[in-house]
Amino acid sequence: MKIELSDNVLTWQAKARDYADEYLQPHEVEAELNAGELPAEITKRNKDRAIQLGFSAIDVPEKYGGLQLSMEEQVAIWEQLGRVTNALSWCFSEPQSWMFDACSEKQIERYILPMMRGDLKDCYAITESGPGSDVAGLEATAVKDGDDYILNGEKWYVTSGNLADFFWFQARVPDEGDDALFFVDKGTDGIEITATPTFSHTYAAHHPTYDFKNVRVAAAQRVGAPGDGLSYTHSWFRHERLIGARSCGAAARLIEEAMAFAKERIVDGAPLSEKQAIQFMLADSVTELWASQLMTYEAARAIDRGEDVKALHSRCSMVKLYVSEMANRVADRAVQIFGGRGYMRENVAERFFRELRVDRIWEGTSEIQRLIIARSLIKRGLTGM
Ligand SMILES: Cc1cc2nc3c(=O)[nH]c(=O)nc-3n(C[C@H](O)[C@H](O)[C@H](O)COP(=O)(O)OP(=O)(O)OC[C@H]3O[C@@H](n4cnc5c(N)ncnc54)[C@H](O)[C@@H]3O)c2cc1C
Repeated sequence: MKIELSDNVLTWQAKARDYADEYLQPHEVEAELNAGELPAEITKRNKDRAIQLGFSAIDVPEKYGGLQLSMEEQVAIWEQLGRVTNALSWCFSEPQSWMFDACSEKQIERYILPMMRGDLKDCYAITESGPGSDVAGLEATAVKDGDDYILNGEKWYVTSGNLADFFWFQARVPDEGDDALFFVDKGTDGIEITATPTFSHTYAAHHPTYDFKNVRVAAAQRVGAPGDGLSYTHSWFRHERLIGARSCGAAARLIEEAMAFAKERIVDGAPLSEKQAIQFMLADSVTELWASQLMTYEAARAIDRGEDVKALHSRCSMVKLYVSEMANRVADRAVQIFGGRGYMRENVAERFFRELRVDRIWEGTSEIQRLIIARSLIKRGLTGM
């Protein structure tokens, strides 16, 4: 199975693969059995190595000391990092290119560049229990008070809230009838964790619920200008949806591991891999993986070509929808091929079976992706997507 990739892309792919194999994968079971945690020295070593390899600078403009890689190169990296369970690849922060368009020079100095250096970590406080998927209906507010804003609202599922130094906080500005994004430092008065639920996966990054009560931030903490609304959050969504490349990496690993097992496992005096029922599961998986890789890389190349952002938005949704659902099907088949062994937490298929489920929910559920795609089709037609 081959996808035509340039030498540059192959070089980054190999670097990320070596890193995933050498630094992350050997610690998966240890993390799984320890609530997602690794010893501090291992976490530090993994983070330092990731930063040394340049992973935290891949989407940072050269002007700011970054690598400014193409989206195709970035996808190749995240695909390889996606081979690892327990979110062990989340050991470094990831400044994204839209942040350099959105933020003032002071904000870039204070928040974004320290992320690239590994000194600060961010988390996103967007989702609320009421509006849920309807991000345009957020109820949190930001009310101007002199040179400050007063923020109020409850935010759910704030991934990495326990590890982060600051929030991206999305709120409605009632005076403007529009939304805005704010930087909020973790220790600011008025922020309280009201719940730290446990989830299906075993990650060191938790997803707490936060109550923001009369949190005062300087007006300079606002990102962008009046009228920008949700546009930066949409940029974040687009980026995250395409980085669904991780799901391709997960599926590739699952296929390889399930195939290796099927070749070794003897049933009825012959390797399991000789049974047509097993071959069909592998064949369906590899076919769907190839389709996923083709669409993911093509969408990345379209971003690199600078195509129309509206068309890109729906294409990123198609990638997110198809690839996340593909990886869930592959994980289900891999568990089946492993049999009882596939139900053990020490087995990669069992871990991915739980972990990949949320890819159909977060960053916009599959249903929301379908709505975006359908609306785009109806508005712009097939040729406009
Ligand atoms: C582990 C985890 C981590 C997360 N991390 C973050 C984070 O870091 N920051 C953040 O801001 N958010 C985060 N989220 C939130 C995530 O983005 C939301 O859970 C997701 O967008 C869905 O919203 P909801 O849970 O409120 O579901 P709901 O909106 O209540 O949806 C429930 C069901 O209804 C369907 N549905 C909703 N609206 C429609 C519609 N119009 N038409 C058809 N079907 C519809 C949905 O598809 C879903 O099946 C995280 C969630 C999880 C589970």
